[in-house]
Amino acid sequence: MFSRKFSFKIGALLCLRSTNCLIHYRHFPSRKICLAICGTTPCYKFRMYCSPVESHRPAKVSSCWQCKAPVTSMQFFCPACNVIQPPSKETTYFDLMSSPKTFDVNTAQLTDKYKELQWKLHPDKFSDVSEEEKQLSEDQSSKVNEAYNTLLKPLSRGIYLLNLFGEQITEGEATSMDAELLEDIMEQYEVISSSDKNKIKEIETENKVSLEKCIKDISSAFAKGDVTTARQEIIKLKYYSNMAEYIKNQEDWS
Ligand SMILES: [Zn+2]
Repeated sequence: MFSRKFSFKIGALLCLRSTNCLIHYRHFPSRKICLAICGTTPCYKFRMYCSPVESHRPAKVSSCWQCKAPVTSMQFFCPACNVIQPPSKETTYFDLMSSPKTFDVNTAQLTDKYKELQWKLHPDKFSDVSEEEKQLSEDQSSKVNEAYNTLLKPLSRGIYLLNLFGEQITEGEATSMDAELLEDIMEQYEVISSSDKNKIKEIETENKVSLEKCIKDISSAFAKGDVTTARQEIIKLKYYSNMAEYIKNQEDWS
């Protein structure tokens, strides 16, 4: 198997399957293999493999809307005139929060970064500037909010990561869960509705264990580049998360 360093060197080859993968490789439609890594790995696995590298991709350069000086997609302010810039469409939430593109996000660091960015970008700090700059601070600040909230929770983070790799959870998939598991979940909902507090507590504990296991499985699937398993586990996580929320609401009402 080639080293990651080597995959960089041959990165000029073109990936035809993923529009997100900036570390390109050659895709052979007849064989569907990735020659950049080991010659046998399916394309999507290479996309996962290259993802940590992708998070350090060079920022795209554009021009400052006010003074036309070069500004990179990672700069919130123009280095020449110091005016706030519009949010870049090229920047992923991971880039924005300076986080490696992985499921295993360090949430403490994420929160620190969020506070740092909100301190810099909050519209309250832009009271003495033009309407355009005020609007841009609101746009930037709201993108940071969105990025933080998406990456903070495992479910939204997993779905977002899947999307970055060109994979979506379709409506059909979201309902085509393992029949046995689905039955268990329906039974649990019935018990919760019965308002037996001890039983609800039991289900809550059980659901918490399932939820934690599911998060571990998603993490390990992403780490192995197994997008199919990651997707299946994310669908389960959706059910467990909904259950947790449902129980919480029942407790709040009682
Ligand atoms: Zn400028």
